[in-house]
This record gives sequence, structure tokens and C-alpha cells, in this order.
Amino acid sequence: MKTLKIAIQKSGRLNEKSVEILKNCGLSFENYKSSLISTVTNFPLEILFLRDDDIPEYVQDGIADLGIVGENVIVETKAEVDYLQKLGFGKCTLKIAVQATSNIQKLEELNGKAIATSYPVILEKFLQEKGIKSDIRTISGSVEIGPGLGLSDAIFDIVSTGGTLKSNGLKPFADVMQSEAVLIGNKSIAENPEVAELLQRIRSVLSAKS
Ligand code: ATP
Ligand code: ZN
Repeated sequence: MKTLKIAIQKSGRLNEKSVEILKNCGLSFENYKSSLISTVTNFPLEILFLRDDDIPEYVQDGIADLGIVGENVIVETKAEVDYLQKLGFGKCTLKIAVQATSNIQKLEELNGKAIATSYPVILEKFLQEKGIKSDIRTISGSVEIGPGLGLSDAIFDIVSTGGTLKSNGLKPFADVMQSEAVLIGNKSIAENPEVAELLQRIRSVLSAKS
């Protein structure tokens, strides 16, 4: 029997719920903050704790068989993986936001404007579909400060409550993508009986909740 590997976020917004869903499936494992791998004692499974950004590629390349990660990260990394199950947590919306004082009304007005983001792939796809050409400026974090500093006219980022936008003098302008955590699998493991067993357990945990 092959020992499966599942990659989950080491720390951050998805870590706790990812651990919780695996525990609720009846899996026993130590959840040491310092270790990168944990062995499940009652199922042929190892848990890899990784940065969320690395999870889709690890699963695509078969370093992990399964993974739990936000849909936004899967789309952004363009990883070729199977979407096995939406997990109902880590919900968020990716939005374009502009300065609160801006009188931009229509999407077309973004033509020629600079948009700062950490999600250039998702933004590019959206703009292309709308036939808009903006200057996408990729930065790795704190994109909200861009407009205030004159670095960009707009931003594209994850927005949950809108509090961060507001405190940086921004307002939401257009919703681009909804995201939640998803269980993904390597393309070649669909027929694996342990994967089927785990998927079944996850689905019954989810349906007991709803
Ligand atoms: P890592 O160190 O693993 O790279 P990170 O800082 O990139 O972590 P987190 O902020 O922990 O990531 O977010 C992980 C995922 O949680 C996001 O990619 C997204 O799918 C989801 N998420 C849900 N709500 C929010 C939110 N309000 N802000 C950011 N991410 C959110
Ligand atoms: Zn990340």
C-alpha cells in the first residue's frame, strides 16, 4: 500500500481549518508547528506543511498526491491538477479597487491605467476577456499602498471585509473572482483506493456540517 502525501499550508489563514478537517476525518497525527512533515498513525498518509503558493505545483509534479489550497492560488500558478472537492472555508473575493476619491465608473476606464497586484495571471485573464489593456504591476505584498504613493491607479487583491481598502483610502470597484479552499489531486491518482477512501471521509465531514 502506497503512503499518500497531502500538502497543507504551514501557517496562515488555511492552516487551522485544513488540520481540523483532516482530524475530523478520524486521522491521528501530531501537529507540531516546527516540523514540515507529520505521519498519520492510522492511515497511510503523510502531511507536508508548506507555503500555500508552493502547493499547486507540488501536487502537479507528484511530490504530493493531494493538497489543500485556495482556488486563487491554483489559478494563479496555472497548475494542472484535479479539483476533487470544495471545502467551504477560506472564502474570499478578489477585487479591483480604486481610490475612494476616484470617479472611475466603467471598466473601460481602466484602459492604460496602472494596476498593482500579486495576482497578475488572474487579472490579465479578466482584463483580456473584457478587452481592456492595463499596465499590470506585479508586487508581492501590500498592494494597497500603491495608489496613495502614486505607484498605481488601481489595485487588484483579495478583499474580505473591505477594512484594509478603506484604511488605505480605497474603495471596491469590480469583483473578479470568488475563491475558497479546495482539495486538489495529482492527475494520476484518481483511481487510488486510499484517495477514494479519504475523499469519502471528507465529504461525510462536510455534509455533517451543512
Ligand atoms: P503563505 O505564507 O503560506 O504564503 P499567505 O500569506 O500567502 O501565506 P494567507 O494570507 O494565509 O496566505 O492566505 C491564504 C489563502 O487564504 C489565500 O490565498 C486565500 O485563498 C484565502 N483567504 C481567505 N480570506 C482571505 C483574506 N481575507 N485575505 C487573504 N487571503 C484570504
Ligand atoms: Zn502565500
